[in-house]
Amino acid sequence: AVGIFWFRRDLRLEDNAGLYHALTSKHPILPLFIFDRNILDKLPKDDARVTFIYQTVENLKKELQNHGSDLLVKYGMPEEVWPEILKDYEIKEVYTNHDYEPYARERDHNAAEFLISEKIAFKTFKDQVIFEKGEILKADRTPYTVFTPFYKQWLAKLNDFYIKPYPTKKYFNNLFKTKQLPLPGLKEMGFKESNLDFPKISYQNKLDDYAKERDFPALDGTTHIGLHLRFGTLSIRKAVKDALEAKANVWLSELAWREFYMMILWHFPYAAFDSFKKQYDKIKWRNDEKEFKAWCEGNTGYPIVDAGMRQLNKTGWMHNRVRMIVASFLSKHLLIDWRWGETYFSEKLLDYEMASNVGGWQWAAGSGNDAAPYFRVFNPELQTKKFDPRQEYIKKWVPEFGTKKYAQPIVEHTFARERVLKVFKEALSS
Ligand code: FAD
Repeated sequence: AVGIFWFRRDLRLEDNAGLYHALTSKHPILPLFIFDRNILDKLPKDDARVTFIYQTVENLKKELQNHGSDLLVKYGMPEEVWPEILKDYEIKEVYTNHDYEPYARERDHNAAEFLISEKIAFKTFKDQVIFEKGEILKADRTPYTVFTPFYKQWLAKLNDFYIKPYPTKKYFNNLFKTKQLPLPGLKEMGFKESNLDFPKISYQNKLDDYAKERDFPALDGTTHIGLHLRFGTLSIRKAVKDALEAKANVWLSELAWREFYMMILWHFPYAAFDSFKKQYDKIKWRNDEKEFKAWCEGNTGYPIVDAGMRQLNKTGWMHNRVRMIVASFLSKHLLIDWRWGETYFSEKLLDYEMASNVGGWQWAAGSGNDAAPYFRVFNPELQTKKFDPRQEYIKKWVPEFGTKKYAQPIVEHTFARERVLKVFKEALSS
């Protein structure tokens, strides 16, 4: 009889909560990863994140093989895969980590129901955040919808206990011993290998100057760990511990923003698809497809917007300051539904995180919890003067900027500003 540890977005052996609890149980543990067709079938075949996951799974397999065990890798829909696994192994327990997105909740609910009906225990643990769900609540036990008081409590509650690593390594001899197991090929699953450069986990040298540099896209003063937090190749406990040790308070608060948005998504799952503030769904978006295409391709004639979109298209990453600018530009200057932009980001960002992406987009559109008031419309020119004063970032990504070849502005700023104020006001006062 074996226990299973089911990897999802926690793709590491060290300091993994669910894996630790599995390895300290009484059964030998066989680790499992499912390439989930419910997710994969919706992705373009050159999606770079699938390559990242694939490479990570290959590494996990090697590490586990070094301990005489292996990673069982399946391709299919979990609801079909589980009965298959049960045919091959006598399973007593399944361990896994909490996952807060709407699809993940449904997947886990179904898996739990099925496994319990087969008399198999399904045990889940908090791993991807320091504090989850109802751990940080207002005095009246309702969730915070404003970041600052949430963060105050998050900091007050934080102590060594919550950032202690789970010592999984000590228990690797409890891994299930097996002959080597097959790995389906990336091509067999219909995907093309991406040749994008994935960021490495090396953020220590960024922490000292983070507060000073993080807002200037030409400086590259941020850590690029989003992808690793997304797929769990970096433990959040390790990141928070390093932030505390380096006294990198601003960076620490960004890690807390991530948890804030995850907590919001957990309590208000509707806001992944609809406006958090419901009256914002009355806005009459223009949704001009041609203008949307120009925005996607980085041809709006607004150099800071175009630089951001081209950085995204080429590298799978965009600087946070510029994410705010392009999101504001799409939803306010062009009056295109924030969901269109959110979807585009979800296809392109290596560090795509539903909670943060929806949170960031609704913040920019004004429809979110804790958003800037709707009448605050970013002025791309002023943003450039402040955050890319020598236009270095712009010149890097828009080489034709300043020549005749560069696009004319798609819309005039003052006109766009007045238009959006009118349309938003109409919707919000109706
Ligand atoms: P750093 O600045 O080094 O920060 C470290 C980590 O803290 C990040 O990797 C991330 O996990 C977290 N973090 C930082 N800022 C935020 C924030 N504002 N909200 C939530 N978490 C934060 N972040 C995502 O991880 N995935 C997304 O899909 C995403 N979409 C966004 C969409 C919009 C419109 C906006 C305005 C922001 C979005 N963000 C998103 C937040 C932020 O832009 C990125 O986390 C950050 O730019 C990633 O770069 P980095 O890893 O170098 O971050």
